[in-house]
Amino acid sequence: MPLHDKFGRAITDLRISITDRCNYKCVYCRTGNEGALYGDLPFEDYLRMARVLVGMGINKIRLTGGEPLLRKGVVEFVRELARLRPGGPMPEPLDIALTTNGHMLAEMAQPLKDAGLTRVTVSMDAVDPERFARITRVPNGYDHVLAGIRAARRAGLWPLKVNCVLMRGFNEDQIIPFGMFAREEGVTVRFIEFMPLEEGRTWAPSTVVTLDEILARMAEYRPLVEIPHARSETARRYRFEDGVGEIGIIAPVSHPFCGHCSRIRITSDGKIRTCLFSVWDHDLHGEMRRGSSDAELAEFIQSVVQKKEERHHIGEPDFVPASRTMVHIGG
Ligand code: SAM
Repeated sequence: MPLHDKFGRAITDLRISITDRCNYKCVYCRTGNEGALYGDLPFEDYLRMARVLVGMGINKIRLTGGEPLLRKGVVEFVRELARLRPGGPMPEPLDIALTTNGHMLAEMAQPLKDAGLTRVTVSMDAVDPERFARITRVPNGYDHVLAGIRAARRAGLWPLKVNCVLMRGFNEDQIIPFGMFAREEGVTVRFIEFMPLEEGRTWAPSTVVTLDEILARMAEYRPLVEIPHARSETARRYRFEDGVGEIGIIAPVSHPFCGHCSRIRITSDGKIRTCLFSVWDHDLHGEMRRGSSDAELAEFIQSVVQKKEERHHIGEPDFVPASRTMVHIGG
């Protein structure tokens, strides 16, 4: 019986941030400065948390950060995770995914695949090297990321998704170039609406490039056909009418999908977050340090899941900013 929250949502999807360090300083996420870090835990601690949660019905784990590939030992950690088996009458292998900025992926894609990684999502916010540098505040990153995407495809990390956060004034003119990129590279490009989770607190409704606007802009390039998607999927999916290329749009601001949310998160310092927009977190690592057994950890997790928020309140008068920014949560 999978974990359920008090609104009846099954919790099957776990995101683990394995570091809150990052080598990029993307404008929609960070300020240009190095801020304070919450720090991270030994892999064996994340592994124990994952084992307990897989025993409670989690069947998909996504590693994130900060930048997860900065963490030495990540390949070995994936190998250990891949030994975990979700329960149920016909146990399937665990789905292990990774979200990365792709800067170090070219060398690591094949070892990660060999270790048991199922798939990868690469963040990339412009298909033009200069614009890319302006957004990431890192010179010469573009070629590394492109090489990483191609290496992931060669390694068979599939489906391969490229996430692009659109922020008005920075990259809304990249919509059509990304449509071309999706077709040429054979990847699914997913546009993400900018959310108020950035360090600089620059978010305003006017900075969000919405789903409707993205669709209208892409239609100027080529007609799109919507692909039916699973209710728990965050992205609305579209293919180009001629059958070449797919895009997705993740629209938490203009079309929230909280009612189908199946996710919980563990931060790099071992706290459970039940929503990106939570104003508090729950100290799972503290429970471990106190010497709790696996059964006690499971009980703690059960009680935390019951506190999962019904929905976010972005854009509403009662919106309270999350207690952590994205880089310290793990997106
Ligand atoms: N470093 C990795 C990466 O670049 O993908 C993983 C961590 S990053 C925080 C995870 C995802 O969050 C990325 O796709 C990033 O673009 C997205 N993200 C960060 N800040 C965001 C914001 N304010 N609104 C929407 N998405 C954001």
